[in-house]
Amino acid sequence: MTIPAYSLLQRQYLPLKQKLLLTKSRIEEWYREHNGDVYVSVSGKDSTVLLDIVRSLYPEVPAVTVDTGLEHPENSRFLKKVNNIIRLKPEMSFKEVISSFGYPVISKMTARKLYTLQNPTKNNALTTNLYQTGMNSKGEYKSGSKLPNKWRYLVDNADNIKFSHKCCDIMKKHPLMQFERENKLKGYVGTMADEGIERRRSYLITGCNPYHGKGYSKPLSFWTNQDILQYIHETGIPISAAYGKVIQNEKGLYETTGEARTGCMFCLFGCHLEKEPNRIQRLEQTYPSLYAYCIRDDEEDRPGPGLGKVMDLIGVPYTCKEMRRREEGRL
Ligand code: SF4
Repeated sequence: MTIPAYSLLQRQYLPLKQKLLLTKSRIEEWYREHNGDVYVSVSGKDSTVLLDIVRSLYPEVPAVTVDTGLEHPENSRFLKKVNNIIRLKPEMSFKEVISSFGYPVISKMTARKLYTLQNPTKNNALTTNLYQTGMNSKGEYKSGSKLPNKWRYLVDNADNIKFSHKCCDIMKKHPLMQFERENKLKGYVGTMADEGIERRRSYLITGCNPYHGKGYSKPLSFWTNQDILQYIHETGIPISAAYGKVIQNEKGLYETTGEARTGCMFCLFGCHLEKEPNRIQRLEQTYPSLYAYCIRDDEEDRPGPGLGKVMDLIGVPYTCKEMRRREEGRL
């Protein structure tokens, strides 16, 4: 089943009330297809909304969260209060993932290209060539497949820093897949098509509920961040304190008084696109000891994941001091 792009656009423009009806019907379809053997994967505000909707139909459905050790402390506190929640642990820590495979930087797609180019083998020669030149095996030029020129210097960097796209799979996907296999349950996730190219593509290929139940149900796919915030504002459901409150600004748009997004605290995906103070600079202000840990590299008796050296390499500031000096025109 494929969804035409205009259908996605039409659904994204529906009023929230109609989106809610459509979402509920997708939730019911998935529930029936799997005889009620389902769960909701929860982490931030989007999946908190999803859990609320699923449980308004089926109150017994369990919530599942993966304790990566990278959650915002307020999110961890909030999730502890969710009833009927199962906590999973990844098989590796973040530090083990980055030492074994490399850092998640820029975007999942760019990190994948960097990983392949830094680890060429006989088996990935065609892909390596595609990422290097944009030429596929048929000799056609695919500009989107090439590693953007601006990131080429990262492949052979002087500090030999490695990059990889594997972190999410190891830290989040694998524990959920193992949980599904062992418990014969199928998951709902709160992802939305407007969150990135990969999510949009996935929705256009499968719709909310993948055919024959392979993968996850994504019944909020056609929602936007504004819909999520409106739902929270109108229903008053509790969310993690990291977001603060949901309010409507003078233009009628919904916004949070705290963090807008609360993914993994040390993740560098998309960090280069953020305005200052970026997520790491905000961490410096809110959780200085976590900040100090994530910036430092391994020292004799003080280990650290070394994000500082990576941010230096990709040219992203990570101290508030730098930000202030820039604001004062001294940098
Ligand atoms: S969001 Fe970032 S840090 Fe978190 S698991 Fe995915 S890649 Fe790793």
